[in-house]
Amino acid sequence: MSTLAPTLDLLARLIAFDTVSAKSNLALIEFVRGLLAEQGIESRLTFHDSGEKANLLATIGPPVAGGVVLSGHTDVVPVEGQPWSADPFRCVVRDGRVYGRGTSDMKGFIACALALVPMMRARELQVPIHLAFSYDEELGCLGVPALIDDMARALPLPRLAIVGEPTRLRLADRHKGIHGFDTTVTGRDGHSSAPHRGVNAVSAAAELVLALERIAAEFREKGPFDAAFDPSYTTINIGQIEGGTAVNIIPRQCSFRWETRPLPGVDPAEILARLDRFARQELLPRLRAIAPEAQVVTSQRVSVAGLRADPQSPATALLRRLTGANATIGVAFTTEAGLFQRARIPAIVCGPGSIDQAHQPDEFVEISEIEACLDLLAKVIDWAADPVDLAG
Ligand SMILES: [Zn+2]
Repeated sequence: MSTLAPTLDLLARLIAFDTVSAKSNLALIEFVRGLLAEQGIESRLTFHDSGEKANLLATIGPPVAGGVVLSGHTDVVPVEGQPWSADPFRCVVRDGRVYGRGTSDMKGFIACALALVPMMRARELQVPIHLAFSYDEELGCLGVPALIDDMARALPLPRLAIVGEPTRLRLADRHKGIHGFDTTVTGRDGHSSAPHRGVNAVSAAAELVLALERIAAEFREKGPFDAAFDPSYTTINIGQIEGGTAVNIIPRQCSFRWETRPLPGVDPAEILARLDRFARQELLPRLRAIAPEAQVVTSQRVSVAGLRADPQSPATALLRRLTGANATIGVAFTTEAGLFQRARIPAIVCGPGSIDQAHQPDEFVEISEIEACLDLLAKVIDWAADPVDLAG
């Protein structure tokens, strides 16, 4: 019996929940919980502080170690200002594609996993399959750490995780991390006719921005490089800046928001230390000669670990075996795979749809890729029923 039709029905149901990251995902989570409960499967929820968002964790099969995690995020990016040709939250099937916000990124994968739950239950699984659906991934994997903690508390250690972000079902065994920071400069205000009596926080922030740009240029020119990524080096981007109150006032405060996307293996603490050294050794002595209260403070906002390629990874071994693919790729976007890896659960990124579609108006997924994903997950279920060794 084909599972494609029920999968597309489920996908349409999931798309219909407007789970833009800023909003609650509870209606979707309750829907999934109900669907699983009808099949006798219990869900564990972990909540955001607000109580408005939740992660869902459910296990099919025996409560033993060595299982497979199927991981995906339930939130989607906003649609405002994008020229959609139809309602983004209503699936449209046309020309072998399903259109709608989240079809590629990444409710397509979640629909596939949910559609196969009856098959998981029908088989006598030797190792469990865990469904791990998180919130706020698009804001920097904010939901998934609580889910991984809960997993560590409640479950015997899984063997591996498959993160179903859109890779057109290619095997991505590495991705960059994202580390986001806010830097705030405090100077001293005063009348703009006497700049020498104040400390201009906007100008000081500009020096810090340039210091970051110099660090970025060094990565760009000297590496390290990994050709699997585009670009192949660690990047820094200054995304927002805000300072001052009026043109005739020396600005006392200026803040800017920036991020680095280091190659796996590059420590973001090193970038932070270099910025800090510039501030302490070159900038602050000049500022404090005028205003001893001058300050530069950097705080971390987002930290998502990169995924390091691991030739010994059972996640890579299993998916290579099941897909017959030899090659692995790196992806430029960030996923929770690095967080799983850090929690001693080897992870690989592989899912239907293309990242070129993600975050775009008229986002779609090819139905052929949904079918291919169902085939792949059916093989994962076969493996869980008869988990042959993954060594080597
Ligand atoms: Zn995504």
